[in-house]
Amino acid sequence: MSERYNALLKKPSSNVREGRLGSITGYNGCVSDLCERSACGSLKNRERCFSQSSMCISMCAIGQLLGIRDAAVVYHAPSGCCATASGTNVLSQQIAARIGKTNNAVLVGTDLDENDTVFGALEKLKKITLETYKTHKPNVIFLASSCVSGVIGEDVDSLAEELKNELPIPVESVHCEGFKSRIWASGFDAADHAVLRSLVKPPKEKRPVINFKNFFESERAQITEIFSEFGVTPQFLYMNSTTEELAHISESLATVCVCGTLGTYIGNGLEELYGVPYIRTINFSGIAGFETWMGRIGEVINKKNEVESFLKREKEKYLPEIEALKKELNGLTAVIGMGPGYTYEVSRVLQELGIKTVWAAAWHFDYKYDDGQNPPALRYLKEHAPNDIGLSIADMQNYEIMNIINKYKPDVYFSRHPGSTVWAIKQGVAAVYFADEYMAFGYRGMLNLAQYIYDTIRNRSFEKNLAARIKLPYTKWWYEQNNDAMLLGGAAVKEAC
Ligand code: SF4
Repeated sequence: MSERYNALLKKPSSNVREGRLGSITGYNGCVSDLCERSACGSLKNRERCFSQSSMCISMCAIGQLLGIRDAAVVYHAPSGCCATASGTNVLSQQIAARIGKTNNAVLVGTDLDENDTVFGALEKLKKITLETYKTHKPNVIFLASSCVSGVIGEDVDSLAEELKNELPIPVESVHCEGFKSRIWASGFDAADHAVLRSLVKPPKEKRPVINFKNFFESERAQITEIFSEFGVTPQFLYMNSTTEELAHISESLATVCVCGTLGTYIGNGLEELYGVPYIRTINFSGIAGFETWMGRIGEVINKKNEVESFLKREKEKYLPEIEALKKELNGLTAVIGMGPGYTYEVSRVLQELGIKTVWAAAWHFDYKYDDGQNPPALRYLKEHAPNDIGLSIADMQNYEIMNIINKYKPDVYFSRHPGSTVWAIKQGVAAVYFADEYMAFGYRGMLNLAQYIYDTIRNRSFEKNLAARIKLPYTKWWYEQNNDAMLLGGAAVKEAC
């Protein structure tokens, strides 16, 4: 058993990424410079003198936990925070309905008000938690903290301990106070921490299951079918899981993830605590990604030859069409604005399609994951990209993206967040909303993505017409600045950047 994770899990709160992984939200330079600074330890966060709002870690933590179909989350927060979290509840229910299941997870808010901030509201939280159990009979209750409950020092941990003795189910605090971290992925870790502490049991046997940490499991059917060829089944985390299934994830053959940003805490935790191998390759997107990722799975589950035959068969089926489309896409330019995992994964995929990424903006950067290594997708890009890629760590700063798009005028802007996609279109640039994490899954996904990009660039009248009729709030002055004009301090980046 790992001493490190044992020590971590004794504490009710996971450490935020800024402290644990050295994560940053402000940088401007290029891929090679970022890699070098990460390796020699000279990478420093650059603060902004102006910042747009970003995202709250509570939403990431609660969004993950509401995927568990028999869980309840009591959010000790004002109604405004609860309102922003409620959308994920609806989303989880819809995703469950898609596969014929019912998601009974409930989100309950304590509606903290001015009086509560003065006199405290622990009794209110206790009453609401007991009522939640009585009404909904969940199999676990998570008590999630917000900025307000954190600032007034509500002792949610002690209450969770007390309620564990009163109720026949686990009750676990989740420290996702919004002010705790600028890195929203700290919320994923807070959820994983709570699941590891409250639900996962030590293994009794090995089972032919692969844990699959993802968001919305749109390729659930395809992945289940592929894995069945090798005698294993996927256990998706946490969307559509149950507390009973999560109790056994320590017995799985391996853990995989859509990207290291999402999977680092649970993947490394299960490996260190229970010996479940965590597969840390580049992800399944595109050709190199799918072959590397599937190849490693084959090694870990002792099905190397079977996986190789599968890959050969699939490649023969899809590669000719991919090659034909590549001819249409070759030479296009792209700007990317995504989370820190997919920025590098998608850059690699575009490179395979002959599209040149002229600038990549990642919303944050984990200079190492919980195994102490740089993100594999970034390392891969440094080693295999034909050109150094301009790069910023931009924390969803849309005004910086607009400056970058205006400067590079790419053929396509790729984003995983709809807000920034819309703004690129308003600027007259075609945009691909890479909403689905499986959009480039394997050869088939690669073909679909290539077709989608081709469709997007063939007719640009929508972007042109929209841009011609819209007055954007950005001034000529801002467009003439370097996109890092609002970043303070920091050493000069390499000239090559
Ligand atoms: S927890 Fe804090 S940052 Fe998050 S929504 Fe509430 S007030 Fe905003």
